[in-house]
Amino acid sequence: MMDPNNCGRPAPGLRAFRKDFRGKAITVRGPVEPAALGRVLMHEHLHSDCYDWERQALVTEERPISAERRALLMGEAVPFLRRCNEHGCHAYVDVTPAPWRAWPTFMAEAAAAAELHIVACTGFYCEMNDGEYWVKKPEDKIWPLVREAPVEQLADLCIREIVEGMHGTGIRAGAIKLGGRNAELSELEKKAFRAGARAQRATGVHITTHCTQQGAETGQLALLDSEGVDLGRCVIGHTAGQLMDPGTRQTCLEWMRRGANFLPTNLKINRERGPEEWRPLVEAVHEVFAAGLGAHLGFGLDWAFVSESGPFGPCKFMPPPPYLYMFTEALPAFRKLGLTAAEEEAIMRANPQRIIPVQ
Ligand SMILES: [Zn+2]
Repeated sequence: MMDPNNCGRPAPGLRAFRKDFRGKAITVRGPVEPAALGRVLMHEHLHSDCYDWERQALVTEERPISAERRALLMGEAVPFLRRCNEHGCHAYVDVTPAPWRAWPTFMAEAAAAAELHIVACTGFYCEMNDGEYWVKKPEDKIWPLVREAPVEQLADLCIREIVEGMHGTGIRAGAIKLGGRNAELSELEKKAFRAGARAQRATGVHITTHCTQQGAETGQLALLDSEGVDLGRCVIGHTAGQLMDPGTRQTCLEWMRRGANFLPTNLKINRERGPEEWRPLVEAVHEVFAAGLGAHLGFGLDWAFVSESGPFGPCKFMPPPPYLYMFTEALPAFRKLGLTAAEEEAIMRANPQRIIPVQ
């Protein structure tokens, strides 16, 4: 654990890390040049195993993957990740934080099999509300470590996972996931954000957040700003709603002028009604580009193999095909609504290639 009295003194290896990896994207198969990422899905999950429904228990520890779980993901996730290459997409950011991620060596195995780069996350998920998904008792609202550990220890965990690797494997996290459940951050979420902010400043990787509620973007960015984080290193996730609402959109534009990046996700096209409900998002994208802020957008699907609402398996909240849906359904529908080739290219390629590498 980092000695709180030594705060500010670089962890062992930190200086060499920043020197060796500056300008490189940290993937589970090692550092790569930004151009190798191609187009990038900025918010996906290979394995988000938060709850053990058989034992009725929160997952609080990461373990090597089981044979059964491995077979499921190699059969149902990897082939679709692999096909993303056909669309110029060679990378995705895996935004599952500890302790619900795939075991690091499996992430590397999946990346090799899919011939795709995976940028893994360290960091902490948000504090759930009573009764949401798996939460039947208050202690299951957040990873117990976030409740129990001081901010220095949480920051140190993130730094070690980025600089040295996860679980002693030498496989590094290349981004920091943070989250807020509601419009205002809870006290525990604020502690997690402070820890993530310190790890960001120490390592130079980017922060990516869970931010579904209107107004939450301001709370998250204000806290990160107060901790001295360069807002250009922050990606505020699940923010399609904020951008589509004309009022909140102005708030987002203000934050973009200060450097922050916004990431619409869950771009599900309704089978019967078609893509029309997404027109306001495409119009918001035009407005962002017209304001000269087009460098501050990314897209993700939030496709997941997950156990939040039942035993681990493919998510129900996004339609098949996993991950590939961005290229076969979402982007073609947005193009019909007027998203331009130049906008799409900036959002999918140039912006991620600028945001992901260590700075
Ligand atoms: Zn997600």
